Amino acid sequence: MASVEIRSVKKAYGKVQVVHGVSLAIADGEFVALVGPSGCGKSTLLRMIAGLENISAGEIRIGHRVVNDAAPKERDIAMVFQSYALYPHMTVADNMAFSLKLKRALKAEIATRVNRAAAILGLEQLLGRYPRELSGGQRQRVAMGRALVRDPQVFLFDEPLSNLDAKLRVAMRTEIKALYQRLKTTTIYVTHDQTEAMTMADKIVVMHDGVVEQVGAPLELYDKPANLFVAGFIGSPAMNILDGRLETSGFQSGALVLPLAAGAAIGDGRPALYGIRPEHFCLTDNGLPVEVMVVEPTGAETLVLAKAGGQELTLVFRERIQVRPGEIIRVQPDAALVHVFDKETGRRLN
Ligand code: ADP
Ligand code: MG
Repeated sequence: MASVEIRSVKKAYGKVQVVHGVSLAIADGEFVALVGPSGCGKSTLLRMIAGLENISAGEIRIGHRVVNDAAPKERDIAMVFQSYALYPHMTVADNMAFSLKLKRALKAEIATRVNRAAAILGLEQLLGRYPRELSGGQRQRVAMGRALVRDPQVFLFDEPLSNLDAKLRVAMRTEIKALYQRLKTTTIYVTHDQTEAMTMADKIVVMHDGVVEQVGAPLELYDKPANLFVAGFIGSPAMNILDGRLETSGFQSGALVLPLAAGAAIGDGRPALYGIRPEHFCLTDNGLPVEVMVVEPTGAETLVLAKAGGQELTLVFRERIQVRPGEIIRVQPDAALVHVFDKETGRRLN
């Protein structure tokens, strides 16, 4: 196992800069998720760590060694791709053994490692099959097995679950996490799916347009997003964001006055954005009147899309509430859980 350190790494393709100076420290044995919308530079960064893409500026260290100029096979990493990239004409066992054969490992050693990985991943019965004879989830497991046999210092995953259906994705997510908890190998996991990042990682790196927006533990990002981008990206359904002004009476947004916790109210009338998560409202007789537009009961909770003073609000209630479209309900945001952002910079103010 090893730490990974990324210092001011940049990447340009021709004149187009796609990674703008990223710095990150990943501790030995840590599980880090790189998350962000499509095109923000996650794969590029991961591929630079793997050595599949050269870096335009900066430094990457694996362990304490600078690997800027090291070939991928000298970096002691193993990567799992979204596309699985299995060799179609090889059996599961041969796919898993391939990298060890290239390294001219001894036959007995190869067999031991392949069998051990197959046992960990539940592939023992499938070793003689070809990729075309496997389901998507089984193929993904073989791709992981191929990484596992190498016993690398660092695992790199690039959206490994994106080709699976929703149910299998959730199952495989748990499986990868359990595998990590068993091996504790340093892992860098790229995904566009914030739920995947939140549920799997020790630490999340939120990227946007080639820069790191925030780094932190999942619940830190959830509870204290550093800026508007992270606030909107982390959490589903997304945080409500209302435009308005910070007044002494509270947050004035159109005709609405929303509560602010003491200390958050910088009552100078300055323009700001008010963020409140859908689950941070309660039903109360003296709350804001809002008009119910759509009701979505999921069984475990009730999601309500509502309108207040011309603005749309998403509300989530843990209990089953009996409301209908067109009805007026009264709701109150929990002032202690409100996020306030600067209108110009999007930075968190409270
Ligand atoms: P992500 O994995 O976050 O979806 P990528 O790292 O694949 O994003 O891409 C980041 C940006 O770099 C995108 O705008 C993409 O179009 C661009 N890009 C990626 N690879 C190349 C390439 N080989 N040549 C030119 N531009 C590229
Ligand atoms: Mg990608």
